[in-house]
Amino acid sequence: MDPFITDRLRGIAVGAAVGDALGMPLEFGLASPPNEYIRTMRPGRLPAGTFTDDTEMALALAESLLAAKGLDKSDLVTRFTDWFRRKPADVGIHTSSVLHRISAGETWEEATSGVQSKDPNSAGNGSVMRCWPAAIAAWHNQKLLLEFSQMQSVVTHSHVECTAGCAFVNDMLFHLVHGKTLYEAYDTALLEVELPQELHQAVKLAPHRKREELRNTGWVRHTIESALWGVLNTYEFEEALVQVINLGADADTAGAVAGALAGAAYGLDAIPSTWMKALHGEWPLKSGKIWSSNELIHLADSLAGSCQTDARADLIQ
Ligand SMILES: [Mg+2]
Repeated sequence: MDPFITDRLRGIAVGAAVGDALGMPLEFGLASPPNEYIRTMRPGRLPAGTFTDDTEMALALAESLLAAKGLDKSDLVTRFTDWFRRKPADVGIHTSSVLHRISAGETWEEATSGVQSKDPNSAGNGSVMRCWPAAIAAWHNQKLLLEFSQMQSVVTHSHVECTAGCAFVNDMLFHLVHGKTLYEAYDTALLEVELPQELHQAVKLAPHRKREELRNTGWVRHTIESALWGVLNTYEFEEALVQVINLGADADTAGAVAGALAGAAYGLDAIPSTWMKALHGEWPLKSGKIWSSNELIHLADSLAGSCQTDARADLIQ
């Protein structure tokens, strides 16, 4: 494979996990004062450098894509539910509600529509935080990439802002991997991916926002806004991530999305080695197996070769 593409695909996997781990201690906190930005891996609820549910759910998606050689929704839901039963330290409210119902015997269709009907406007960031493996698996096939991106969302997050948001972020990853700059990828994805009007407006305004305006909550719109603001107003991986995680609030998730985008834009070689060395996490949960950057690099390489160009989403169902 072209070494440029390999470097970008590895950058997505490691970049997303690094952003998650870097943001972990800042989650639920206030934005850092500008002269007190955190720039190193710090301990929080978990030891320094530990990735959280954002990366764990992405690993479940990645392993499902590898096993099914495409996107098989029932296999994916089984893996998400297995992860949930192992009692992760961190799990979003919407995701927890859906996976709890599935654990109790509902189908994913019943569970997602049941949770959504209680709060029709709920559009959390729980699917955009984990969507990057679909962009690696289908890096060579944009149509498939967009299908995978939306389908991996719909099993837990069926709101159109969630499915469209995943498609938008992964479409940017597609163009970055193929050599476009961040702004070119952003402009192209805005033309190619149909977004609901309010999300479209938020995405358009994101690079022009002032830091004080960003709320960085668990709403998918806020996460995409923060990640775009960070990567489109900086010129290197490290600074993009520092800007985004220091927004506080849902810092790890915005960090994961920004990390995937910056990793695709600048490649694995641009990720600070101190961050890569500190990065780790247990996968599968409660297995005793500890993942580091090397395992994520290997995973990216396996995923990149996993899906044939003629693969179809849900072909195996
Ligand atoms: Mg998290």
